[in-house]
Amino acid sequence: MMMYDIIIVGAGISGTSFAKKISKYAKTLIIEKEQSIHINTNIFPAHNNPYIDDIILKNQNIFPKDHIKTNYLGKEINGIIDSEEFGKPLGKIVHTEVLIDTLIKKFQDNGGTINFDERVKLINRSENKIEVLTSKNTYYCKLLVLSTGSNDFELQKSIGFNLPDTFSGIFTNIYANDDIITNNFDFEYIFHLNPQISTNGPFYFNIGKGRISLGFLGNSNESKEELKIKLEKILQNYNPIKPYLEKLKWNKSSYITCKVSKHPINTFSQDRIVVLGEAAGLVTSFFYEGILPGLLSADLAVNTIKPILNNDHNFSEVNLNKYDLQINKILLKNYYKNGLACEYLFYNSNHKIMNTIWDTYTKLINENKRLRKEICEAYWLDDIATYDLDRDKWAGEQLFKQLPTISKISLGPKFLKALLKF
Ligand SMILES: Cc1cc2nc3c(=O)[nH]c(=O)nc-3n(C[C@H](O)[C@H](O)[C@H](O)COP(=O)(O)OP(=O)(O)OC[C@H]3O[C@@H](n4cnc5c(N)ncnc54)[C@H](O)[C@@H]3O)c2cc1C
Repeated sequence: MMMYDIIIVGAGISGTSFAKKISKYAKTLIIEKEQSIHINTNIFPAHNNPYIDDIILKNQNIFPKDHIKTNYLGKEINGIIDSEEFGKPLGKIVHTEVLIDTLIKKFQDNGGTINFDERVKLINRSENKIEVLTSKNTYYCKLLVLSTGSNDFELQKSIGFNLPDTFSGIFTNIYANDDIITNNFDFEYIFHLNPQISTNGPFYFNIGKGRISLGFLGNSNESKEELKIKLEKILQNYNPIKPYLEKLKWNKSSYITCKVSKHPINTFSQDRIVVLGEAAGLVTSFFYEGILPGLLSADLAVNTIKPILNNDHNFSEVNLNKYDLQINKILLKNYYKNGLACEYLFYNSNHKIMNTIWDTYTKLINENKRLRKEICEAYWLDDIATYDLDRDKWAGEQLFKQLPTISKISLGPKFLKALLKF
């Protein structure tokens, strides 16, 4: 019988960071349905650093660039955050598949096993163990960790977990000589809102070394084909991004449609099962920031599970509930509320309102040094639990003051309701 202490389903950032840490204390298996880890270039704010080893953080193959500037791209005025104004980078740019591969190597050094190209199809729970049936084998474990992202909701539904809200997105990786990239981009990250692209998420560029990831997130009702046609049209014809695409070549066949989820589910653990990262809806509602919650939820799960491994291996719901409490206390109580308020304010309105609020915001960033500093400080936070929501209330007031007079009257109630999200 193939028996493990812990089986982890899914080798994304949450599953592999959990695996690397817990494999020192438990016989652990990761099961991943894909043959290898997909290429992606992401932003990695400095507030993620506490959850990653220093040696990994200094590895330039994983983190090839500092994240120095963000361009909150407006239609007329760009809101530029240049962290050099305040003395230190916002974080790093991560070549995410290299990070995940490194975490997997460390996991294997600790004695862990990973099986690629094997899909978990069914989970059966009995009183003292869990049976995991895959496309190739049957395994058993004392504790199951689901870190399946937005990829397999049937699995988590079948064992009684709720599902987060899920949206569609599309992105592509563009490869280019670094001279061209440096020439085109004076920023490492571009975040742009346009309701004609998505009413529920950004169009973005993440600028890596020798490569760029770009795309948009947050659509709910467009088919894969429609998303591909729309991305092609944007890359061909959308004036605000034209200068950035000069001399770059993209390939329609490399467009990747994806799902992205947000809004946390109500419970993150049950008897013998824990859910990490995006599968639990742990992605911020405005920026779609998922690496922090992935790393943090993995860390909090280790804090809960390690003492149980050292004690009696009793992974009851009562014993695992500390994980839920910690997620609520550290992630959801403060930091997440910023995302909820911004989501309410910036997304899902009629197109005119969305444009007015976004254009006012990009202008305000340029004009208001304190706002630029507050944004930098949110990137730098050492301890996410101490995130101060007063900074958002203040920013909301500044934004409201800056609105055209006519919009102030119509949007007053919306701003007041956004305050209630805190
Ligand atoms: C286009 C895009 C850009 C983004 N950019 C950023 C960014 O710059 N910074 C940031 O912080 N966040 C970003 N996010 C969000 C962030 O990337 C994700 O929230 C985060 O990576 C989720 O990690 P995860 O480990 O929870 O899930 P995932 O990375 O989705 O991993 C889940 C894994 O489980 C596997 N799996 C699923 N079902 C099964 C099964 N039944 N059997 C076996 N294996 C299975 C999948 O193949 C997958 O490898 C972005 C998201 C998208 C879509």
